[in-house]
Amino acid sequence: MKRRDFFLASGAAALAPLGMRAAELTADGVLVPARKVPVLAEAEVVVCGGGTAGIAAACCAAKHGAKVLLLERWPSLGGMATNALVNIWHTSDRRKQVIFGFVQEAIERAGGFMQRYPDFPRRYETHKFDPEGMRVVFWQLLRERGVRVLCNVTAVESVVEGGQVCAVLVDTKTGRKAVRGKIFIDATGDGDVAANAGLPFDFGRVGDGRVQGMTMMFELRGADQAVARATPREQVARVLALMQEQRDAGKFPPFNEGHAASYLRSGATGLYNMCPAAGNPLNEEELTQLSEEARGHVYQYRDLWRRELPAFAKAEIVQMGHGLGIRESRRIRGLKMLDGQMVIKAAKQPDAIGHGFWMIDIHDPKGTGYTTHSDHKPGQWLEPGQSYHLPLGICLNAQLANLAVVGRCASTTHEGCASVRLQSHGMVMGQGVGTCAALALRSGTQMSLVDIKKLQATLRSDGVYLEDVPAAALAT
Ligand SMILES: Cc1cc2nc3c(=O)[nH]c(=O)nc-3n(C[C@H](O)[C@H](O)[C@H](O)COP(=O)(O)OP(=O)(O)OC[C@H]3O[C@@H](n4cnc5c(N)ncnc54)[C@H](O)[C@@H]3O)c2cc1C
Repeated sequence: MKRRDFFLASGAAALAPLGMRAAELTADGVLVPARKVPVLAEAEVVVCGGGTAGIAAACCAAKHGAKVLLLERWPSLGGMATNALVNIWHTSDRRKQVIFGFVQEAIERAGGFMQRYPDFPRRYETHKFDPEGMRVVFWQLLRERGVRVLCNVTAVESVVEGGQVCAVLVDTKTGRKAVRGKIFIDATGDGDVAANAGLPFDFGRVGDGRVQGMTMMFELRGADQAVARATPREQVARVLALMQEQRDAGKFPPFNEGHAASYLRSGATGLYNMCPAAGNPLNEEELTQLSEEARGHVYQYRDLWRRELPAFAKAEIVQMGHGLGIRESRRIRGLKMLDGQMVIKAAKQPDAIGHGFWMIDIHDPKGTGYTTHSDHKPGQWLEPGQSYHLPLGICLNAQLANLAVVGRCASTTHEGCASVRLQSHGMVMGQGVGTCAALALRSGTQMSLVDIKKLQATLRSDGVYLEDVPAAALAT
């Protein structure tokens, strides 16, 4: 590898051991001398990001014999599912369950932490879980398969040599370290590893480049459902109108109107998904400000409801997401790009690794709280009983043969991402790519050259639902 200098915005002096040549201040940064980064760990498959997609990838690669290391920047596993309190899984095409495999395994292992909705399988939403409990379940699933897990490490640089990623550099409490591997799977949600390796990516929608709105999830307890049921609908409508009026006058925060109406009518206790925020999830300053503002907004809702609705007189906020819930950021360009038409037309793909079915669900990138989910407009939903294929090609790329992406940073358009971003869909990708990585290692080939029929047969024997696969080969 060529020696190179690193530009760091801060912290250079702290990273340098005593006796090291002094760093040099430049007009816009700090020039740090080339230095050796110690190796922290090594594995056959290195999965970066311990969200639902990364967990699935790690477990499934390990199940097929690979030595797997999972790196996670936060202290606990689950990503948005646990740390942003996003606790609903979707497994049905509204007629039948079409997502099984690792998702089903996790559902069964979750025991009392997972509940199936009584109207299963008539809605896309089929299961609701306790985010706290799932942290433990995810951990157990990884441990049982022998995956080595390192939390509190952030992948900050990708070292590329000869068309391969040979290491990721991670920041730890004791400085920057290297993690080496044969195959890398980027499950960071934001595509950090792929972007740092120089892969091209898309960001935001066509036109203004904005990504989907974010949401601060919160848990509300102490609402009285009996009182809510007895509250006249007009009274709730008046409170919603007051919220709208004050919001439009700039005295009250934005909110998701459809969700707020349903929570207020039912006096729901549990997780509320209604506090929007808009900005760039890759910008630390914006993210810091938006998170703090959103925390204040949640108390503004509570205070108004306590005042105006008897059912909420004793309402308490018991927790909020560890961070804002992020729906979209970088989308790494792959061998294929899944777009809105492929979703709506239930497109089938020869390199299918599973099925998806979620609608084109876009939360207003300007942060008003409006979502296309509430409109029921034609052209955004698949017909009941229909599903599209999640192809391997949206996870692989043409430049770096040993790097794949899974989850919400896969190769999609803004509209495609609005469907693919579901946790269950990301886990399908994780299972497909993790299994593909293990098969590639075993046969000494690269992931895009793994016999797709063999991969599909392996996935089916691991319980993955995979139907209507057309008979053409994966074009690389
Ligand atoms: C408010 C909200 C409601 C939603 N509702 C639903 C819903 O009801 N059901 C559903 O299925 N989906 C829902 N979604 C979408 C879904 O939650 C996400 O798209 C999905 O969780 C993404 O999973 P992921 O594994 O791709 O990424 P993430 O869950 O974001 O996981 C990425 C992981 O990588 C880690 N990481 C990031 N960068 C680095 C790095 N550089 N180094 C190391 N680790 C890193 C993160 O800490 C995180 O743990 C919702 C999203 C939001 C925000």
